[in-house]
Amino acid sequence: MLKTYRGSCHCGAVRFEADLDLDQPTYRCNRSICRRTHFWPVVARDGGVRVLSGEPELTPYLFNRRKNQHGFCRHCGARPYGTDTPIGRMYGVNLGCLEGVSEEELSRLSISCADGLNDRWQDAPAFCSHL
Ligand SMILES: [Zn+2]
Repeated sequence: MLKTYRGSCHCGAVRFEADLDLDQPTYRCNRSICRRTHFWPVVARDGGVRVLSGEPELTPYLFNRRKNQHGFCRHCGARPYGTDTPIGRMYGVNLGCLEGVSEEELSRLSISCADGLNDRWQDAPAFCSHL
C-alpha cells in the first residue's frame, strides 16, 4: 500500500518526503555505483519524491552515460535518492534515509537482486548475498 514517508540525509540538511509501497520489492544491485556505496533503494514513481528543504545542498553525480543522477549531501555524503531517466522519471529512494521505519520493518522487506552490471535489470546476478 502506498504511504508517504519522510526522510533526510544523515546531517539533516536535506529533507524529503516520498510516496512508497514497502510491500513491493526493494533492490540490491551489483552495478559499480551501487556496489561502492551499498545503495539499497525502493522505487518511487514520477512525482513520488518531494524535497522539503535543502535541495541546494545536494551535489549531483551523473553516471551510466549521464542518464542517471544521484544527489549526495555535500555535508555528510549521504545519498537520499537518485533518478533514473531512461525508463521514465522514477526515483530510487534510499531506505537507509527514511525516518519512522523501524529496524524490524526494514528486516522484513523483500529484496530483489538486479544484475545492473550487465544491464540485465530483470535478472538476479549469480552472486548477490554480499550486495
Ligand atoms: Zn547531509
